[in-house]
Amino acid sequence: MQFKSGYVAIIGRPNVGKSTLLNAILGEQLAIVTQKPQTTRHRITGILNQQDAQIVFLDTPGYHESKKPLNQVMNEVVGKVIDDADVVCLMVEANQKDAEIEKELFDRIGAERSIIVVNKADKVNRDRYEKIAQHYKNEWNAKELVILSALKNEGVITLVDAIKGHLPQGEPFFPDDIYTTHPMRFIAAELIREQVFLQMQQEIPYSAAVRIEEYKDATEENPVTLIKAAIIIEKESQKGMVIGKGGDRIKEIGKKARLKIEELVGSKVYLELFVKVEENWTKDSGKIRELMGV
Ligand code: GDP
Ligand code: MG
Repeated sequence: MQFKSGYVAIIGRPNVGKSTLLNAILGEQLAIVTQKPQTTRHRITGILNQQDAQIVFLDTPGYHESKKPLNQVMNEVVGKVIDDADVVCLMVEANQKDAEIEKELFDRIGAERSIIVVNKADKVNRDRYEKIAQHYKNEWNAKELVILSALKNEGVITLVDAIKGHLPQGEPFFPDDIYTTHPMRFIAAELIREQVFLQMQQEIPYSAAVRIEEYKDATEENPVTLIKAAIIIEKESQKGMVIGKGGDRIKEIGKKARLKIEELVGSKVYLELFVKVEENWTKDSGKIRELMGV
């Protein structure tokens, strides 16, 4: 068996379904989502480990929160991933009319390592699939195309196989069990960090990490999962921002994260959050390893 490994970027305009697709691909394997700080070249959003392949998904930083015009942002994103991705999944919607920006990106990335991912196929009739495929093949000269529905999890395995077909042969980049010893701990940390990311402005998210300080599974006697977690930031000056007025922000972060964790663990969750300042942790490689669990 020839093992394959490589880096994959999923790019496309906001709302096209990138996150939904990544979740569909990784499923429970969200356990291995990493929290690489900005000091590394790329954030890794997930690693899919299979018997014959390891696929490392790259994030597209600065993309979601930008207020710049779409084409400018897309260009920056491509600039960042273009050198490092073995495969680029360029996402469009099945009923998208104007895909000029995507076409431009496609031309820059090149057909060889691009896979056109036509998402939201559930929104169009099946008899249109062939026409859509022909359009990208004829007008764009696309070599590989997958029509799928990330939401309904249809066609996702086909895409993973297509990705594998483009990956170079090679050893895995990461041990496949980095986070699997305590998957729930890391999922919980990731869900908390996601809320920090979603609810905070700019600078903080990339310099914030989450450390689970205590994790107790629910039992029959005590049917509540207990989690104590620290949000680690770099500067004293950031503390107030994370906590918010009268503790509003951290309460909201905790509440949203708790609901998501409850869904996953299937029990009530008691989540206690606090903020810790650990100066310059993003510049301290020992600390990065500790907080990232690698
Ligand atoms: P992102 O901004 O590219 O990460 O997009 P999201 O993954 O957040 O998805 C944006 C919206 O599109 C969400 O409301 C999703 O539920 C929805 N969506 C994603 N994939 C599909 C799909 O295959 N079909 C349909 N109908 N909706 C989808
Ligand atoms: Mg998203």
